[in-house]
Amino acid sequence: MGGEFRARRRVLWIAGAVVLAIVAAAATWAVAVRRPDERPVSSGSPVTTPAATPSSDEGDPKMLAQVDAVLKARAAAVLTGKLPQFLAHVDTKLRARQQVQYTNLRKLGLRSLSYRREARWVPEPQAQHGKKAYAFRIMMLVQVAGIDPAPRYVPAGLTFAERGGRWLLVDDDDLAAEADRRNTPEPWDLGPFEVVRGKGIAVIVPPSERANGRRLVREAAIAVPAVRTATRRSQAGILVIALSNKRSFDPEWATGGHPAAAVAALNYTVLNAEANQFKVTGSRIVIHPSERRDTGRFLLAHEFTHAAMAPLGRGAPTWLVEGFAEYVEKKLTADEGHRRWLADQRRSLRREALPKLTVLPIDGVFHGDYDDQSYGVSWLIVEHLVTTYGLPRVNAFYTELAKSPDDSDVRDRALAKHFKLTETALVAAVKR
Ligand SMILES: [Zn+2]
Repeated sequence: MGGEFRARRRVLWIAGAVVLAIVAAAATWAVAVRRPDERPVSSGSPVTTPAATPSSDEGDPKMLAQVDAVLKARAAAVLTGKLPQFLAHVDTKLRARQQVQYTNLRKLGLRSLSYRREARWVPEPQAQHGKKAYAFRIMMLVQVAGIDPAPRYVPAGLTFAERGGRWLLVDDDDLAAEADRRNTPEPWDLGPFEVVRGKGIAVIVPPSERANGRRLVREAAIAVPAVRTATRRSQAGILVIALSNKRSFDPEWATGGHPAAAVAALNYTVLNAEANQFKVTGSRIVIHPSERRDTGRFLLAHEFTHAAMAPLGRGAPTWLVEGFAEYVEKKLTADEGHRRWLADQRRSLRREALPKLTVLPIDGVFHGDYDDQSYGVSWLIVEHLVTTYGLPRVNAFYTELAKSPDDSDVRDRALAKHFKLTETALVAAVKR
């Protein structure tokens, strides 16, 4: 649509503060594999962790059994819609907030939910809640019905305290500052929301913004076929978060020094009982709060492309990851008739950015050498490959690199294998 399109162009070329889109790896990957014995210690003294010196009732089997039982009842209460059962083990002071979370999870519509104590971690005393109060690291495993192919790992921290012989949930953010817990709150922790659903899509919006949710569902319905055609891949469904709350968007989700307009945040699924191996099973799209009303089919096509490709692996270089997403976005733009605008873009990239192109924009070079035009340069490289060699070969090349280590020898071999090209020859061909 014209209006949508102009909004995009304003973002791209006039505002200067270019906000685009990146693949954001949530911090969970690095931290999730951290072991309890790798906790930072404050001094040079011999490494001792709470695990090595259990004291009081930190590992009391009765307490652990009761906490596990509460967690099980809590998950069952959400799945079956039993609020009294959900609140039965929640301290009075926390009830209002927990009830909002319960309502949000019900609105989201879960196919499965479970909470697992991360048993390798020792419970941490929380004296502010009383003598017998401990914070536990909890794996929350959430699968949104019709969206997630597998439960997503959400690192949580819950504090339980003994009250009159029973263990109750007394707080849910005592570990929020810990590096191995999440940086970005989940949408269900940010106050009441609404969920607008379409075929294969769920959009989370503030309660007063259902109309924007419906608009995003319509825009997504146009973006999805474009992504499927180009990638030959698709997710079972996709979750889009379009909240007004600034906390819904991680400040680290930036590109070229500007906040991204939207990100495809990776969804991790736990692979083993020890919960130290994960794989990417999808992505959720988080839209920057200030962009939520302007985001449309083109940016969604870009992000959905990331979501479709992410489960393949993390080895593809930045120019290919961003260039392919840009290619899909721009192809949709062309299909919708905005050819003159695209021709303008090509012209200015050819004039300003391509003369500077000497190497393919891998990490570091991506913003370093080409800055805000990195996306455009990468688009032209991928477009050249698609035009010259066809989509199936570009997809095969992407797939192979994604599964491989991010390494220059691997990239050189793949360029030779799929296109009979060297990097130098590819750069020269794009500049012609
Ligand atoms: Zn991107």
